[in-house]
Amino acid sequence: MSIKIIKSCYACDSSPTSREHVPPKCLFPTELGINLRKNLITVPSCDKHNGKKSDDDEFLLASLAGIIGCNNIGMLHKFTKVDRAISRSGGRLLKKVLKIQEIKSHKLANGDIVDVAWGKPDLERLNNSFALIGRGLYFHELGERFKGKVICEIVYVPINDRGRTGYREFAVDQIQKELSGTSVKGENPDVFQWVIGPKDPSGACCGRIVFYGNLAVYLAFIPESFQEEDYLNLYDISKSVSKPVYIQKDGKRYRIN
Ligand SMILES: [Zn+2]
Repeated sequence: MSIKIIKSCYACDSSPTSREHVPPKCLFPTELGINLRKNLITVPSCDKHNGKKSDDDEFLLASLAGIIGCNNIGMLHKFTKVDRAISRSGGRLLKKVLKIQEIKSHKLANGDIVDVAWGKPDLERLNNSFALIGRGLYFHELGERFKGKVICEIVYVPINDRGRTGYREFAVDQIQKELSGTSVKGENPDVFQWVIGPKDPSGACCGRIVFYGNLAVYLAFIPESFQEEDYLNLYDISKSVSKPVYIQKDGKRYRIN
């Protein structure tokens, strides 16, 4: 019998200096009188990939808790922890979460007026955070660091472009199919659920992470050796074609331009 000793960070070759929670511990509320921190996942991490040290954890919390689509746990968490963090930072945190932001008065169904922050989410930073969570889960599940690219589809953020919408629909359908035989995990399902699918012969695999009941992100793990240009280029090429371009798969057509 051999024991595999892992000496590197979950996301890079550096030596680990601490353990990182996957996803960040701050997403799991403590103030609601129920235990929502059952068996949280941790992985070895270097300083650079520890979200607590880089303030990515705070960014992710403010980007997820309380946004439209959250269950009650996510909403309640926002009204306690996130709002406190935002007022402590004097609005700086909100500026980090939303690229362009303004505060608008919004009338609720009961007639109350509340202030709501509007703006574009910082998608690049969000993508980066979700990809790191994917790497952490992969490490936890498969006992090794994933070497390659992690692509995220943040499906709770709407897109305006029709071709991109069709392409997302295609990607999500394929990932759902890949994951259909794999069981969903997460001991605090109201906060976080996850599934990492089996590796295919090329070394690629898929995953799905869901925050606060409804906020889903689909993940594709593309190994270094993989020729992803083949299908990514089809989407890029379709944008410059004036006729409709479709992907036909499993009896369904997806328009991608
Ligand atoms: Zn690292």
